[in-house]
This record gives sequence, structure tokens and C-alpha cells, in this order.
Amino acid sequence: MPTIMTHALAGAALGQAAPAGIPKFRLSVCLGCAAMLPDLDVIMFALKIPYSHVLGHRGFSHSVIFAMVLAPLITWLAGYAADPKRYFNTGLIFLAAILSHGILDALTDAGLGVGFFIPFTDERHFLPWRPVMTASLNPSSFLSRETLRILESEAVYIWLPLTAVIFLFSIIRRVKNCPGAETSAPGK
Ligand SMILES: [Zn+2]
Repeated sequence: MPTIMTHALAGAALGQAAPAGIPKFRLSVCLGCAAMLPDLDVIMFALKIPYSHVLGHRGFSHSVIFAMVLAPLITWLAGYAADPKRYFNTGLIFLAAILSHGILDALTDAGLGVGFFIPFTDERHFLPWRPVMTASLNPSSFLSRETLRILESEAVYIWLPLTAVIFLFSIIRRVKNCPGAETSAPGK
């Protein structure tokens, strides 16, 4: 997996797509937390469930079905369910944040692939391009030279593109909010 903070960063970045009227900072924090959730499956190691099991690491908790079940639940828990339209739109962003986790894992260079389609198939998948170094599951190895190399690969292949996307979103928003950007239709 990429480091857990990179998962959080990717989820939080999606807060830029917040529907109108929803504070971005709070939503970004919630999205960052949601994007980390699939890795709670590491507790399966303590339960002696093997990595390759459907409930093992990168298994069901990284699947599309899990994201589709979790997204509406977590959107509701985060307090975005008062208005049906906002609930739906915000739910889609939470879905994207949770799915981003598996996609980033599928970019890594080691471990088993991601069980995107569990329970329909137990097969694990990687993306064809895997430039991101895999972070250790052992927290004690975080302060090591290896971690610096991992963070370097994440900076190049994840953080920089995310920064570019956030920058692009802010430009689009400024252009949309610019006085005179909205033109009235003839006859209105
Ligand atoms: Zn993961």
C-alpha cells in the first residue's frame, strides 16, 4: 500500500469537488478519513486470516461493493444526509474517496493485488502501471531510509498530480465565480 497519509491526502483532495454550500475543509477531513478505512483490514492479520483470503488485506474491504455499501453509510454518519440531492452528490464523492484507496494500492509494486470485484471473483488486480513503492505494514519501520524512498515515489506519482488537480479545480471555480462568467440566455 502507499503510506496511510497518502491515502488520506487523496481522499481529502476530493473535497475540492464539494457541492455548493458544503464547507470544503470539513468535507475534506471526512473524505480523508473515509479513504483510509479500507486498510482497517490489517486487523485480519491479528485474527490469523491470511493476506490472500477474501477478507484478508486488500481483499473485500478494498472492493467496489464494499465502497458502494460504505459510502452512503459514512455520508449519513458524517451529517450530509439532510437534503436528498446533497446526500446523493456528497455520497458520490465519498464513493470516489473510498475507491481511490484501492486504485492507489493497485499502483504499488509489491504485495498482492486488490480484490476489486470480490465477492464476484476472488481474483486480485494491479493496474498495468505500478510506479509507487509499497509501504511496509509494520509501523515500526516507518522511520527508515526505505520510507524516504517510498515517500519520494508517492510525491512524484501521487502528490504532484493531486496538487495539479486541486490547482485546476481552484482555477475552474474562480473562472465560474468571476463576475460576468455567467451569460443570460436570450429572452430571459
Ligand atoms: Zn489498502
